Amino acid sequence: MPEISFTPGDFPVFNMAQAPKKSYCEAVWEMESGNVHIHYHDHEYGFPIGNDNELFARLVLEINQAGLSWLTILKKKANFYRAFDGFEIDKVARYTDKKVARLLQDEGIIRNRLKINAAIENAKRIQQLQMEFGSFQQWLHAHHPQTKEEWVKLFKKTFLFTGGEIVHSFLMSIGYLPGAHIETCPVYKKILKTKPAWLDK
Ligand SMILES: [Zn+2]
Repeated sequence: MPEISFTPGDFPVFNMAQAPKKSYCEAVWEMESGNVHIHYHDHEYGFPIGNDNELFARLVLEINQAGLSWLTILKKKANFYRAFDGFEIDKVARYTDKKVARLLQDEGIIRNRLKINAAIENAKRIQQLQMEFGSFQQWLHAHHPQTKEEWVKLFKKTFLFTGGEIVHSFLMSIGYLPGAHIETCPVYKKILKTKPAWLDK
């Protein structure tokens, strides 16, 4: 997420002309309490996820971020969960054209046909992986470790709407690739205790 989530509108401190780019952690430390980034940074970002529906949710949210700020997505996160039936893979995989039409009318989410279609199609692809590997999680595990480039290749042939930045963000956000937090961040130590996948190389 960090690399692509920082749009200048997100944080004034990211005015590139004046200041060197800060890490996500440092930027979050300076935010006022209540900012949605703080909860995400402290409790979600970089922590392993052990549940396929939650992994799917994160992938869909990362896909929806494309071209937008992560702040926009975090603010809409609850709406996304509501609109997409809690990201239950089996439900999303069965979405009809009627449901798609309803989603396209839903102002609480990102109304983009390609992104909505990608969510539905990717739910179907994950069902496929669940049949072959037992779970989405085990599919990830089966291919780990590999380089970021190899992951991107694999995701591109497995899913829709998964370009390099999305794949990198997704894998970093679930602990498969390193770099979510700087080492001086208290959350970094917390995550080490959860044994994220990036630790075994
Ligand atoms: Zn941090």
